[in-house]
Amino acid sequence: MVFKRRDILKYLVILVIIVSCVTLTNKTIDKKLLIKETVIEFQELFPEVNVLNARIDVSDYTTTVQEPTGKTRLAHGICFYSDKRIIIGKRFLETGNIYQIKKVIFHELGHCYLGLRHPQEDKFEYTIMNIILDTALTDGSNWGYLKGELRLRYIRKKHK
Ligand SMILES: [Zn+2]
Repeated sequence: MVFKRRDILKYLVILVIIVSCVTLTNKTIDKKLLIKETVIEFQELFPEVNVLNARIDVSDYTTTVQEPTGKTRLAHGICFYSDKRIIIGKRFLETGNIYQIKKVIFHELGHCYLGLRHPQEDKFEYTIMNIILDTALTDGSNWGYLKGELRLRYIRKKHK
């Protein structure tokens, strides 16, 4: 069997398409798994609420939020209080690091299932409920602290 240059090119293109498909699929599975695992982690921290069936959709949407600095930017996540539906921004899910993504999921679950709000804009608080993405450090070294803070925040709110 003799391969012509055109044939080789054709097979190369097919190979590239197959490799990209596998890569894309893996990426989607990983992030979906990350969402699932994060929900289970939240459930373990808050056994008094039931989040295992929480509806979390990944979608491109264009809601903006106001930052404490006065700037507006695209929201990475949103909670619809009426039906406790959560949307995570598709682009953010692709580009965010693991702890940023976990923070946004915990943040939105905190709105929808714990009834927590953002801290006052004029005072900075080191919490999952602020809207500063970088509160969760990339290496995960303060994730345990942030989870403890969220737990305390919820208990304090319940006993008010
Ligand atoms: Zn929020």
